[in-house]
Amino acid sequence: MIIKKLPLGPIQANTYLVFDEKTKDAIIIEASGDAEAIKTELDTLGANLKYILLTHGHFDHVFGVNDVKNLYPQAKVFIHKEDEVLTENVAIQCAHFGIDGIEKPQIDEYVDENSKLSLGDIEIKAIHTPGHSKGSVCYLIENNLFSGDTLFFEEIGRCDLFGGSFSEIEKSIRNKIFTLDKNITVYPGHGENTSVGHEIKYNAYFGENSRY
Ligand SMILES: [Zn+2]
Ligand SMILES: [Zn+2]
Repeated sequence: MIIKKLPLGPIQANTYLVFDEKTKDAIIIEASGDAEAIKTELDTLGANLKYILLTHGHFDHVFGVNDVKNLYPQAKVFIHKEDEVLTENVAIQCAHFGIDGIEKPQIDEYVDENSKLSLGDIEIKAIHTPGHSKGSVCYLIENNLFSGDTLFFEEIGRCDLFGGSFSEIEKSIRNKIFTLDKNITVYPGHGENTSVGHEIKYNAYFGENSRY
């Protein structure tokens, strides 16, 4: 399995490309911008794009969904149902941040904790982690957790936007992420990677040495 990190779009949110060498299938987590840059990476690998998995509905993570979908019409776009209200209102989100609006991204299917997703023989587990938004989801693929804007390097996602809740994000992180294997690498929606073990110790909010 190969993982590539592509910071793309108006505020350089991370799009991750996950590729299975055996089947040549690939998925992307988020489509944060520049579909051509994503295509170049997929072409270099000779990959077939199977899914576009969204961790949540904020504009900076979905900015390139329709452009990628135009290039790869067979790739299915997944989001948690509770965040569809965000993608429906993506133009308003953009206006709020002073960015030219985009058409609302096409969604093909809803994802929840019972979804059966896979990349070749590899299982993809969706974990519902509300708090940053109601429909925030992390994706666990082997020892890799794609955490969207729920968990960052020594930080957490903001809870003051529509649908956000500090008590929910605390429950999500403590009960659903900190209970995972400590060696799991965390790939956040912004910034550098971390690990579950590092965050259990050093997260500014919920780590053992928390400042708050
Ligand atoms: Zn967000
Ligand atoms: Zn974001």
